[in-house]
Amino acid sequence: MATALTPSRRTEVSTMSDESVLDVDGLTKHFVQNDGIIDRFLGATKAVQAVDDISFEIREGETLGLVGESGSGKSTTARSILRLDEPTDGRVAYDGTDLTTLSSRELKRFRKRIQMVFQDPASSLNRRKSVGQIIRQPMQIHGLYKGRRDERVDELMEQVGLSPEHSNRYPHEFSGGQRQRVGIARALAVEPEFLVCDEPVSALDVSIQAQILNLLNDLQEEYDLTILFIAHDLSVIRHVCDRVAVMYLGEIVEIAETEELFASPQHPYTRALLNAIPEPDPDLARDRKPLSGEVPSPIDPPAGCSFHPRCPDATEECRKVDPDLAQIDGATPGHEASCIHVESFDPDTGIQLETAARDRYAPSNFLHANPDQRETDADRLESVGEVQE
Ligand code: SF4
Repeated sequence: MATALTPSRRTEVSTMSDESVLDVDGLTKHFVQNDGIIDRFLGATKAVQAVDDISFEIREGETLGLVGESGSGKSTTARSILRLDEPTDGRVAYDGTDLTTLSSRELKRFRKRIQMVFQDPASSLNRRKSVGQIIRQPMQIHGLYKGRRDERVDELMEQVGLSPEHSNRYPHEFSGGQRQRVGIARALAVEPEFLVCDEPVSALDVSIQAQILNLLNDLQEEYDLTILFIAHDLSVIRHVCDRVAVMYLGEIVEIAETEELFASPQHPYTRALLNAIPEPDPDLARDRKPLSGEVPSPIDPPAGCSFHPRCPDATEECRKVDPDLAQIDGATPGHEASCIHVESFDPDTGIQLETAARDRYAPSNFLHANPDQRETDADRLESVGEVQE
């Protein structure tokens, strides 16, 4: 999708600290799948390996982007962190507390601190409630702003660029961009510390995307927010993120500071995603060759490096060795990739010793938004705990 986005504004607005606030360690989510009655009778189940043993941290005030194709596991990662999907294994510590061990009552307290903005505002907002009621509800659930909730609704609507006079209107009376502003206002209603934004602009027109991203940047500064930002479009990621983690088939294959990842991508899959960004020069666009093959099934992922069936750099060794995510020699600390053939940086200059032929990778039609159970998720988030009037 073409965007009119400029490179990151994060350097202008970032107030990141060195302390991590979210630590994800060995997070794994496998879905059990039974194909039919006979399979169920025989107990023959298959595991869909949606997220497979991933670890990362997010520093206070930071925006970490998770990027990858549909089916890469990025949304499941977000849902597992929030326990909308119960993790199969691993630890998710927020501010030192392991969220995976909390009771539902304890989890409610943390859901005040961690809120979510969904991809499709049309389905994540309750059609039977006015936007004022929608924004008010999290305050009721968490017992906040008693006696001045209407005032707070007006304040939030103004902050996200909506007129408070429209608080009695219903979601269908707003445009897509306005509905996403309502979704953001709802998430901010309880003054969270941490936002999970799951493809918050992918359902919007290109012209509206930059407005919403700029709004998120401004609100991050105003509310001192830490953000996990999920997108399939690297140009969107570049606009808002301090660091980027690239996911493929449930694993993180590369992670780095945003500008370093764009300047010097190391994993062949990252290069393929970068080359999928539309090229305005038709001659350059014509030179690109498509990335071959389909995304393998997460039920039966390939042996060795899971990217090898599609990787132009694959060797026989790649079929046997499953590379770990590891620091790249000579690169900025924290620039890690999982590839046995990743080129090394010159330790003195930081310059890559050998640059791969990036033009072998090309835009392809493998980037799609992943429609999820947004309405169900929103309802589940809203329904945690008793409503306190
Ligand atoms: S390990 Fe091999 S198959 Fe995997 S990304 Fe690197 S070169 Fe490609």
